[in-house]
Amino acid sequence: FNENFEYPTRPDLMDWTEDHYPEHPSLVKDDSKAEDISFFHASSMAVRPDVLDVGCGFGGLTLALSTALPECTILGLEIRPKVTEYVRLRIIAQRKQHPGQYQNCSVLRTNAMKYLPNYFAKSSLEKMFICFPDPHFKRKNHPRRIISERLLTEYAFLLKPHVGRLYCITDVKDLHAWHVDKCDTHPLFRKLTEQEMDDDPCVTLMKSTTEEGKKVTREGKFGHEMYYAVYRRMNDDEAT
Ligand code: SAM
Repeated sequence: FNENFEYPTRPDLMDWTEDHYPEHPSLVKDDSKAEDISFFHASSMAVRPDVLDVGCGFGGLTLALSTALPECTILGLEIRPKVTEYVRLRIIAQRKQHPGQYQNCSVLRTNAMKYLPNYFAKSSLEKMFICFPDPHFKRKNHPRRIISERLLTEYAFLLKPHVGRLYCITDVKDLHAWHVDKCDTHPLFRKLTEQEMDDDPCVTLMKSTTEEGKKVTREGKFGHEMYYAVYRRMNDDEAT
């Protein structure tokens, strides 16, 4: 990939209004204040993303979360330029087809392993989804995995203490074991119980609306399975 990404030097310099959420229900429009820097910050803050679909692929989950979480602002992150453009056009088409809907979701082309703290402030995220990430099977490529001790610390920084949730799903059993090992041993994450996962409608969505999840369901009868876990970002004083 062309790694020449543009990115803001600080999250508060990012304008989420124009390119991403121009008709977001929480956006106050006032042309007379458009030049006012504090109005810019307040407007962008009102629509800044709080749910990330990391490595969103073709955007099935990003769109599904938009309707499932109408109070939230969803952002799909994707590194491949053509795939990002596909999702952007898919969202525009859905907005046209369903007036008033899908205004709270968008897509951004970036390398999620490098630039998250440039875009998102401390404790600003409700949920992060990591669905069917690239497995990087070879041991020498394990540092390229999107769940690692270092990146979990970054995710903990971005997620809201006590309530923030990290969702991980894969069809690769060994990779799931890696995810669980890294998250279980991280002091700021605690695994949800089976009951807590059953009570969370987003768990069903990450299985049923991701392109990869759909593939597994289609091929399920041949022993293809999905493995998943959800973690809560603990309070700093709960950490072990
Ligand atoms: N989450 C989708 C799903 O479940 O259907 C897509 C899964 S696909 C196997 C993994 C996606 O992550 C690919 O579209 C890939 O381009 C994207 N990706 C890989 N590394 C990334 C990175 N560092 N930042 C953003 N996206 C990345």
